[in-house]
Amino acid sequence: MAAALYRAALTAERILARRGPQAIGCAAWGGQHQQRRDLNVHEHVSFMLLKRAGIPVPGFGVAHTPEEAVDIANKLDSTDVVVKAQVLTGGRGKGNFKGGFKGGVKLVYSAEEAGDVASKMIGDMLVTKQTGEKGIPCSKVMVCERKFPRREFYMAIMMERSFAGPVIIASAQGGINIEEVAEESPEAIIKVPIDISEGVTDEKAEDLARQLGLESRMEETVAVIKSLYAAFINNDASMIEINPYAEDTYGKVYALDAKMKFDDNAEFRQKEIFAERDWSQEDAKEVEASRYNLNYIALDGSIGCLVNGAGLAMATMDIIKLHGGSPANFLDVGGGATAEQVKEAFKIITTDPKVHAILVNIFGGIMRCDVIAQGVIAAAEELSLKIPIVVRLQGTNVDDAKALIAMSNLRILPCDNLDDAAKMAVKLSNIITLAKAANVDVKFELPV
Ligand code: GDP
Ligand code: MN
Repeated sequence: MAAALYRAALTAERILARRGPQAIGCAAWGGQHQQRRDLNVHEHVSFMLLKRAGIPVPGFGVAHTPEEAVDIANKLDSTDVVVKAQVLTGGRGKGNFKGGFKGGVKLVYSAEEAGDVASKMIGDMLVTKQTGEKGIPCSKVMVCERKFPRREFYMAIMMERSFAGPVIIASAQGGINIEEVAEESPEAIIKVPIDISEGVTDEKAEDLARQLGLESRMEETVAVIKSLYAAFINNDASMIEINPYAEDTYGKVYALDAKMKFDDNAEFRQKEIFAERDWSQEDAKEVEASRYNLNYIALDGSIGCLVNGAGLAMATMDIIKLHGGSPANFLDVGGGATAEQVKEAFKIITTDPKVHAILVNIFGGIMRCDVIAQGVIAAAEELSLKIPIVVRLQGTNVDDAKALIAMSNLRILPCDNLDDAAKMAVKLSNIITLAKAANVDVKFELPV
């Protein structure tokens, strides 16, 4: 999808700043980054899929209330259980709740204690290294049978551009410090590219098992590696990450954690998985945009961008950067937006206080420029926008569009040339940024 493309070109820095999944792949093996708008699901969903694929996971259940947590704990085989916040972020183990409770993964010793911990997690926000200050809401926990790991491994499969296909990434030094391991001793991270036409051969799996020091559990490890790969392919996953994959004191191995991501182009054939999407875990503005069938991507700069089409979006970003500016977001209205959608698009863009100017760059093909102009005008009027809007329109009905804008008497600056439009947007946003810093109110009036 178009949105996936945008991310690919524009958010490498953000991904590097560790937003998104644990994805140590990025840090660990220095491969090219592959940012897409994939589906993330909760750990309990991944556990269910792994279990279905024949990969051993501890007994588990999902609780939305402390009472349910007690119930599940009572039904599990052991009194030692683990309570895990179900939030779409990595680093939960080392995270803290805003309410003061420490840790998003807790080992407890009775069902009552499980209920107690659940009551502290549910309804609060967990802050981890990956979520930033704002944290992520926790509305359910997973209660699972506790295992006693003797050794912790890291095991993942990802679709990776630099290998032109899937790659298994594994390490004998798994556990919560894997990112440090990846940084300090990259040689401890094993990468096994897989040829999709042959799949995981016995030879490759056996070799990996040996490198991990799991030759004593050869048969089982080979089976797990193969099942993991099957789960990856059959579910259209773009990533499966198990950390830790643990060997317990009885010599049995289990996935004690699971993070899976899925190719969003596979939604049509993975309906069961996509039904598990948890909107509460995603950027509110991105969710709002998708309700109107708009693609919105939040970025860090100060210029809001409204464009149509992926290519134009990227060109717009580039040209803003070229002139020393930085996009605050961009919103793609797609090929055939209505004036109503354009208005909604503006609402979304302008709810971000970082936006100091808006650059509209539309090429009217199927999309008519006058429709865009109507939407822009309606939005500017309805929202009584104070920030400057630079509009560059080309293509179908562009003259009608210009006439509409000229008649509207609003602070909309039309520009024919993209280069000039971008320069103008950058200058205007700089003025607003300076004015805000100096607490000065700037008004943009157009000469009549
Ligand atoms: P993450 O921090 O979001 O990756 O969450 P994990 O599910 O990996 O849990 C964090 C840590 O808790 C793991 O790295 C383990 O060290 C520990 N942990 C999780 N499950 C168990 C368990 O069953 N037994 C023990 N002893 N530790 C566990
Ligand atoms: Mn983990």
